[in-house]
Amino acid sequence: MRPTGQLHLGNYLGALENWVKLQDTFECFYFVANWHVLTTNPGDTQAVPGDTIEMGADWLGAGLDPERSTLFIQSLVPEHAELHLLFSMATPVGWLERVPTYKEMVEQLGIESPSYGLLGYPLLQSADILMYKAQWVPVGADQVPHIELTREVARRFNHTWKPVFPEPQARLTQIPKVPGTDGRKMSKSYGNAIYLSDTSEEVTAKVKPMVTDPARKRRSDPGNPDVCPVFDLHRIFTPEADREACATGCRTAGIGCLDCKAVLLKHMLPPLAKIRERRQRFVEKPAQIVEILHEGTKRARRIAGQTMAEVRGAIKLEP
Ligand code: SF4
Repeated sequence: MRPTGQLHLGNYLGALENWVKLQDTFECFYFVANWHVLTTNPGDTQAVPGDTIEMGADWLGAGLDPERSTLFIQSLVPEHAELHLLFSMATPVGWLERVPTYKEMVEQLGIESPSYGLLGYPLLQSADILMYKAQWVPVGADQVPHIELTREVARRFNHTWKPVFPEPQARLTQIPKVPGTDGRKMSKSYGNAIYLSDTSEEVTAKVKPMVTDPARKRRSDPGNPDVCPVFDLHRIFTPEADREACATGCRTAGIGCLDCKAVLLKHMLPPLAKIRERRQRFVEKPAQIVEILHEGTKRARRIAGQTMAEVRGAIKLEP
């Protein structure tokens, strides 16, 4: 995950919640992808250290467990850069130019002269994944082409030098629709986000004025939950019986939107409070977050060192 500061509900439900669950079944590696920040904003690093702490607090608050998972900082494992360089020698440029997110980023951000690092960032991701000989990579559907590329890179390496890398598989995460308070997709840049750090009062203050079915102008107008962003949150947080009662009440104008939001808040606030309270305990001790990430980095480096010994042995450059 790129360190972009405090995480919001969309980040949590789209990835982090699943990461926490995966710890029960797998040996997991999660890292702060701080080199990846440089691919689009190379000069803008001022906020990265602080954002790393905030994100670390969110990870730990959400329940990532440093005893069970390896949590580390990418830039403190220089082996990733070495593996990226070696992969770059055997990867045709065309493979990278075809990656859909590259074209999208260049177009959306209006980048006139994309950097070598931006073109190569999916290859750096391949190094990030293959370094730990990952079997599975939890991703959303938009990231599947990156895993495909990683599989091709592993095959190319194994064929060019020696079989070192297994081919990882994408483990698709079902990402629920998480609307922001204005009904658009929840995003920091839209200013419509609910953060994991928000207090119950702040969450309440954001949910109460939240956009609803635009056709429901008066209390007596029936509404349609299927087009209402508040109901998307009900689908995530509210148990079926209460959710169905809200849907019926909405369609028959039996309840008002504020009643409906009160039911949502009843179910939404307790799980968020649990995360926030645990998060807060870490925020008060930022040195502890740094220590956890450094300890995880040591563990990651031990494995990276083993992989790189195999890689160097396969390529054999030195006398
Ligand atoms: S009653 Fe609930 S679901 Fe219906 S429009 Fe209002 S907030 Fe949305």
